[in-house]
Amino acid sequence: MAHITVATTNATGGDSGHVEAETITLGLRDARPATLALHADETLRLVDDIASPIHVSTNYKYPNDPQQLKPFYGRDIGPTEFVYSRESSGNPTRLEAVLSSLLKSPCLTYSSGLAAIHAAYILLSPKRISIGNGYHGTHGVLEIFKRVSGCKELPLDCPAEDLSAGDLVCLETPVNPTGDAFNISHYAEKAHSRGAYLMVDSTFAPPPLQDPFAWGADIVMHSGTKYIGGHSDMLCGVLATKNKNWFTQLAEDRVFLGSVMGSLEGWLGVRSARTLELRVQRQSQNAMDLVEALDGALSGCSVGTGLSQSDVDVIKEVVAEVKHASLQHGDKAWLTKQMPVGYGPVFAMVMKNEDFAKCLPSKLHFFAHATSLGGVESLVEWRTMSDATVERTLLRFSIGIEDSRDLLEDLISGFRAVLEQDDQLQSITTKLEDTCNTAADPAESV
Ligand SMILES: *Cc1c(COP(=O)(O)O)cnc(C)c1O
Repeated sequence: MAHITVATTNATGGDSGHVEAETITLGLRDARPATLALHADETLRLVDDIASPIHVSTNYKYPNDPQQLKPFYGRDIGPTEFVYSRESSGNPTRLEAVLSSLLKSPCLTYSSGLAAIHAAYILLSPKRISIGNGYHGTHGVLEIFKRVSGCKELPLDCPAEDLSAGDLVCLETPVNPTGDAFNISHYAEKAHSRGAYLMVDSTFAPPPLQDPFAWGADIVMHSGTKYIGGHSDMLCGVLATKNKNWFTQLAEDRVFLGSVMGSLEGWLGVRSARTLELRVQRQSQNAMDLVEALDGALSGCSVGTGLSQSDVDVIKEVVAEVKHASLQHGDKAWLTKQMPVGYGPVFAMVMKNEDFAKCLPSKLHFFAHATSLGGVESLVEWRTMSDATVERTLLRFSIGIEDSRDLLEDLISGFRAVLEQDDQLQSITTKLEDTCNTAADPAESV
């Protein structure tokens, strides 16, 4: 098999056996993430264009000099030596260089988040996977993997004794659809105490919000479709691992699974990664502003959130509960360490009844009613539209980069509109009942 080298800049692995950084003499080693997002792929620049060019070729010319021709087995597929785009190609490779610096680990991109999860399951081939609720598609991949491998599924909080060496704990945090967070260190210790591994799906907390490696993750997965893409226009999956053997195997497997990113998506990904930190910080702060105001109204701590008493009353009439990692007050000891700059841009609202949940999206102007998350535009989803396992009163919000004050005003006027509609419906129902009763009276007297 051809050997695939990684296009990383300062992705160092401390322990032996980890991938050594490919040192690049650009002074990037000490650069901070916001700088790396713009410059980590500098050495992969093949032309002088400032905007990275779109390369769409699936195949590349071999060297003209016969002396330089290396047959397949023995060839190095380097980050700038392209042969066939199912192995590697320019734009996805530049994206990998940028993401490796931001995730602080060598990483590979995939055609989607689920393709990345599939690749991780195949790599580790665990006999048991311990996993909780979360993104429903992940469970779809797991069902297929169980069917072909006979792997057993265990609950996330199974006793440690149920795990054996080589098993896999899959932790999604913060978790879909509520945005609640889990203690990564706890699950890392539990897995490692049995010789099992921890994979963290960190989609809801991309850099700079959370670094699962710092808390013991062995492999980190992202649906790059969400925040890394950030513009609702590309599918992408990412796997990052500091284990050199795993990385090499993943790269080789990907050639034959055929789950590489498309070249155009790779280009969109590079464009997007440049602004990841700006977008995510703003989105996370916006979400926290909204959660603070809405939860404050419910819990009686609305001082400072700028809400009037009438706003508070409306919120209390339609919203039953707000869910978000920022509200996990009892977990702050580990949570503030694991998520030091923000608790993520997704939160959920449980409404007082199913009708409120079903109607609110149609009353909002700045939130599109759609699935998915992570884009610069705010979204709301009556989650039962795409996930049969969640309660029908639940709305999932993915907060964008708008001004949070506009978003809050939009929500509150949406709540009022939902209540008005409810009042109208009730008065129509009452009238109908009255009419039916009057109509029924003469018949009764016959
Ligand atoms: C979207 C998502 C996935 C799946 O990613 P795709 O890119 O849609 O395949 C996995 N996990 C989480 C938490 C997600 O939100």
